[in-house]
Amino acid sequence: MKDLNLDSALVSFDPATGERIGQAKIFTPEEVKEVVSRSRKAFLKWRTTSFEERKRLIMRAREIILAEIDEIAELISKESGKPFAEAISMEIVPVLDLMQYFARKTKKLLKPRKIQIGIFSLLGRSSKIIYEPYGVIAIIPAWNYPFSIPLGEATMALMAGNTVVIKPSELTPLTGLKIGEIFQKAGADEDLVQIVTGDGATGAALVESLPDKIMFTGSVATGKKIAEIAARNLTPFVLELGGKDPMIVFKDANLDIAASAAVWGAFCNTGQNCSSVERLYVEEEVAEKFINLVVEKTKKLKQGNGLESDVSVTVLSSEKQLSIVKSHVEAFRKEGARILIGGNHEGLFFEPTVIVDVKNSMLPMQEETFGPTLPIATFKTEEEAIRLANESNFGLTASVWTSDLKKGKRVAEKIQAGTVCINEVLYTHGIAQTPWGGMKLSGQGRTHGLEGLMELVQPKHIHLNRFSILPDIWWMPYSETAIKTFKALAKHFASGSMLKASLALPQIVRRLKELLANK
Ligand code: NAD
Repeated sequence: MKDLNLDSALVSFDPATGERIGQAKIFTPEEVKEVVSRSRKAFLKWRTTSFEERKRLIMRAREIILAEIDEIAELISKESGKPFAEAISMEIVPVLDLMQYFARKTKKLLKPRKIQIGIFSLLGRSSKIIYEPYGVIAIIPAWNYPFSIPLGEATMALMAGNTVVIKPSELTPLTGLKIGEIFQKAGADEDLVQIVTGDGATGAALVESLPDKIMFTGSVATGKKIAEIAARNLTPFVLELGGKDPMIVFKDANLDIAASAAVWGAFCNTGQNCSSVERLYVEEEVAEKFINLVVEKTKKLKQGNGLESDVSVTVLSSEKQLSIVKSHVEAFRKEGARILIGGNHEGLFFEPTVIVDVKNSMLPMQEETFGPTLPIATFKTEEEAIRLANESNFGLTASVWTSDLKKGKRVAEKIQAGTVCINEVLYTHGIAQTPWGGMKLSGQGRTHGLEGLMELVQPKHIHLNRFSILPDIWWMPYSETAIKTFKALAKHFASGSMLKASLALPQIVRRLKELLANK
């Protein structure tokens, strides 16, 4: 059973077998503080390294992962319960791609940027932005992508010149420790990437230890707690939280492909994805045909231990997760929905479950389930589909399925979510170049892509005056001439037009003379 012994060590269990895999130390708040302080010291050195040096470290870490791919995939699969196949396809492959991308491109993405400052440039001024690292980045991930999420964020943070402290989930501490080990083997300074294992209290201690930024992935409830503490300390943060992602299937979609996508989108990682398809809306005219396809495809899925290569659906991560999934399925039943397939469980193995006759008013349509359930509702018009999809407090991802791409784009623009896919589902966390993050309760800020990289740096504005032999006309002392000049600035200079601004010139010259005479 994957519930924990919290005496002095964190015990890690395989949720599929109950087998004890290993254990990890629980860091005390004092130890966490010490780790952050060492990280800050390591930052002073790391921030001065070149992009080439950072790239070499990341590429060496990448090689180590490739060399140990089977061992790492097995650890991820055993600790999180996910299929071995998905440990490779949905964790190792995307993070290796992210590592090479940010190793090679960060220098270009963070190139200093000149800013056009309009008429101020006529006064001999120029401005540019340079990007500085924050310092110590605290990464607090969830257990469901225990390798790719923290390692991806750590890679981006390091490439930007930050140091990193990761507090892995209490359900997957060994995978977290593996990330630290990979960087050590790659030759990193021992304080560059530090791992503090422990539970929520250790996470809270990390937030309290005044890191320079917090990258959090987890539930809305924990996100709110972190935001409260961070606000007290004015620590900036990114929150990647839960979802209740809708999939809209129009009658003109390729129904067979859409049904396969729905099955994968709802049941991969046994439904334990922030971006799982948790609400499906299909156009009424094709609902029966589409639902039959979904049920047929679901019947073919083998459920079992993730280490068996032909197993597609595995196990829930914990008793807590099981009780949420059970209660949601029960609530659907009570409120009049019908379960076409699944609905039962043996231990933590909850069957892939397809539910129909569903309405948005049913409680489990409003809360994140995080399990292998696919509730399907119908709609009649495009407007209704958009309304149903947006009737949620969450807004992480969504998908629209149609052969009419104009309609697809029109609908995508109206859906409130951080990512909307047209004829695709769930997978864009795996694209390093695209931003990831939510609207509404699904979070704040972004990871991945340029937007995600920008979360890990502070823009610094450098402003230069090449005409510094003259005082600025707005400096002291003030006078009647000064006020006349300021009015001329208001009328002409602030107009944004070079031509109009020149009308202020005579008054500017008078003011300059006055200031120079007063020297
Ligand atoms: P959780 O909120 O229980 O835990 C997440 C992490 O926070 C863990 O490491 C935990 O130890 C730590 N934590 C717990 N209490 C804390 C506190 N008071 N202060 C600091 N840290 C604390 O979430 P979970 O069950 O591990 O993960 C599931 C949730 O994560 C789901 O809601 C899922 O949608 C979400 N998720 C979101 C994304 C995304 O990209 N938006 C990705 C993966 C998972």
